[in-house]
Amino acid sequence: MSIKPMIRNNICLNSHPQGCAAAVKNQIEYVKKNLQAAETAPKLTLVVGCSTGYGLASRISAAFGYGSVTVGVSFEKEASEKYTGTPGYNNNVAFESEAEKAGLVSITLNGDAFSNEIKAETCNAIKQAAAKAGIPAKVDLVVYSLASPVRTDPKSGVLYKSVIKPIGKNYSGTTLGMMDGVLSTASAEPATEEEITNTIKVMGGEDWELWMEALDKEGLLSSSSCTVAYSYIGPELSWDIYKNGTIGKAKEDLERASLEINKKHKAWVSVMKALVTRSSAVIPIIPLYISCLFKVMKEMGLHEGCIEQIVRLYRDRLYTGSGSVPVDGENRIRLDDWEMRDDVQKATVERMGRVTAENVFTETDVAGFKQDFMEAHGFEVAGVNYN
Ligand code: NAD
Repeated sequence: MSIKPMIRNNICLNSHPQGCAAAVKNQIEYVKKNLQAAETAPKLTLVVGCSTGYGLASRISAAFGYGSVTVGVSFEKEASEKYTGTPGYNNNVAFESEAEKAGLVSITLNGDAFSNEIKAETCNAIKQAAAKAGIPAKVDLVVYSLASPVRTDPKSGVLYKSVIKPIGKNYSGTTLGMMDGVLSTASAEPATEEEITNTIKVMGGEDWELWMEALDKEGLLSSSSCTVAYSYIGPELSWDIYKNGTIGKAKEDLERASLEINKKHKAWVSVMKALVTRSSAVIPIIPLYISCLFKVMKEMGLHEGCIEQIVRLYRDRLYTGSGSVPVDGENRIRLDDWEMRDDVQKATVERMGRVTAENVFTETDVAGFKQDFMEAHGFEVAGVNYN
């Protein structure tokens, strides 16, 4: 059966199992070449949000770079007779299969990470995985990489929804249709107080803290354990909709949580590069910015995807062997250092100013944006026979 991408409004509704498997294998090959065993590297890793984007790259890097036992949690729709399964489902299947071939112990759980039930199931899975690998049931690294539009509070049962909106003013900016290269204006109304609070509830640090508490309570954290959650800051031109908007408030709360967790266990927020994942295609201005940024970074030989970013996070920040982790003045790890370089930003902003309907395919890397988006769903992956 030949599977064609079903795309509506920059959202892809299906995925390609063999394409997802090939993309997972490509990431594994990159890690094997670029990450060497390190004495302090994690032996047991938990990744919350393990199936796509930064979380998948974090799991692949820990397993195939360091030989770590991995337990992964994600919320994905399984394949059925009529449905291909979400990309994350197919990535998990591919990861498990490659891990088994390589003799690596791994357990994947599918369910709502915000719930008490999945936290309890994960604690049991950690014990099981450790027993199978013959190592102590002590997690050395907890990666918190959730991106979700909704969260049910496990205590109150209330469902909260997150929004991407500016605060205190209207937002209007140029955006770019990744499929057709059409430029348009996107606007958003300011968020209400309730929407701000709800977005913090969903994408802030509360659940990260609950995960660490649950693991601690079960005695599952090693004395040297550390945890990392991912954030984004981006250039000033996106701040009205991102950093100073509802999502930015949630990310501020993530930083609050990291300081709180840090009182007992080493915890960092790591600021990552803007990348094409399932979420970034639908945030106004971001597709245009990313398309120009990618063009510039590729020309300068500085371009990275999720896997390159995570390998650099492990190799050059968390597990350097020096015992210390380089951070900025606010205890954040910065992997957006290349993106935020003055020369990169200057060239990107200049380019954004030059883009017109006529030159969009030559001045921007909208083709690369689309390619990454398709690959994230298992389509257009090099070497896969789609017929
Ligand atoms: P993604 O959408 O690719 O992955 C999200 C993961 O969360 C998936 O594994 C999904 O299954 C899981 N998930 C969502 N809801 C869940 C639930 N209720 N229970 C269990 N699992 C659930 O996201 P991403 O782009 O890799 O983002 C991960 C983190 O990195 C986010 O905090 C994001 O803000 C941050 N980040 C992203 C970018 C970017 O450009 N994409 C840049 C910097 C930081």
